[in-house]
Amino acid sequence: MELWSRRKFFLTSLAGSALASANELFGRTTPNGHAAGSLANLVTPAQGKRPLIISSANGRHALDKGMDILKRGGDTLDAVVAVVTVVEDDPNDDSVGYGGLPNEEGEVELDASVMHGPTHRAGAVAAVRRIKNASRLAKTVMENTNHTMIVGDGARRFAVAEGFEEMNLLTEHSRKIWLAWKAKTSFNWRPGIDSPEWKAYMSSLFKGDEKEIAYAERVIAHPPTGTIPCMAVDAKGDISATTTTSGLSWKIPGRVGDSPIIGAGCYADNEVGAAGSTGKGEENIKVCGGHTIVEMMRQGKSPTDACMEAMTRVVHNYKNDKKKLGTFHLYFYAINKDGAHGAVSLWRNGYEASNQASYAVHDGTEARLVPCKTFFDEAGGEQ
Ligand code: ASP
Repeated sequence: MELWSRRKFFLTSLAGSALASANELFGRTTPNGHAAGSLANLVTPAQGKRPLIISSANGRHALDKGMDILKRGGDTLDAVVAVVTVVEDDPNDDSVGYGGLPNEEGEVELDASVMHGPTHRAGAVAAVRRIKNASRLAKTVMENTNHTMIVGDGARRFAVAEGFEEMNLLTEHSRKIWLAWKAKTSFNWRPGIDSPEWKAYMSSLFKGDEKEIAYAERVIAHPPTGTIPCMAVDAKGDISATTTTSGLSWKIPGRVGDSPIIGAGCYADNEVGAAGSTGKGEENIKVCGGHTIVEMMRQGKSPTDACMEAMTRVVHNYKNDKKKLGTFHLYFYAINKDGAHGAVSLWRNGYEASNQASYAVHDGTEARLVPCKTFFDEAGGEQ
């Protein structure tokens, strides 16, 4: 057993025995009647406040919208969908909806899912083209069909039938970055030997804008991921969640990530809590992260500890090989029925070259960024 896992094992056993006696002493149980299950829960009880809404960091500016709905007594699913719709509509967020970076053929393909705790219903769409609001479309699948997931062209046609507008989801910005990626990676789709050098090509493509050129170079070298998961619990304790994304940039057409997979990129159980994820979806799918986290919370773990458990499983899949783990980034986010929240990132660094991975929280006063607990307290994970 490697050092870190031995240490973890030791701490877990310690936590288990300390907890067993503490539970005997205090008869401590979670709101849904299960015995609490971790030392972290006991030593630093996760403080809950309702209503609560959280998202990945890129949703911070939109959380007010969801909180307003919660404060007016609106439905938790309406609240989370309202938040992510702002981000889907934003051409400057290149990880979600309109303006999302495209697949290898230059076509934006979106994935999204929703779960409505009070009715335990779910809906999802995957690899859907030309429809901007994938989260609302997933909600429409949940509400207006007898299915839970519709994909590809079927999802597009369903959207049109339901009155969604069809549009080109590529912005000029994302089209040019895709063109630059093509030029860098394809043998033929690039200036020939009789053409100006790469630098001159990039300069003409981006009209000499050095910032744009640097950004394009970065996302070509490290295909970015990005998504927005959003989870809410209202004053009564009802819970919903959604996750929406344009997925991994430059993906093979038809590739589906974790975001639309109920139990991976999104999960909610009205008796327990909800969870979501961003980062390399393939890794999350293999540990059914969303469902795992909710089940851990059902057994008494705090949202942070439950996210840490799911992350530990991802790390175990690579036997703690930091070189392999360093090829991706991953985040888990969770809330519980009490209104406590937590998030864990695989690496310390966050999106957009920030030094500290964080997530956005609104518990009634104002939206703020909160640091994620990190699995490895060092920078890593290309993104
Ligand atoms: N999880 C998303 C996916 O794999 C991408 C992301 O969150 O960055 O499609």
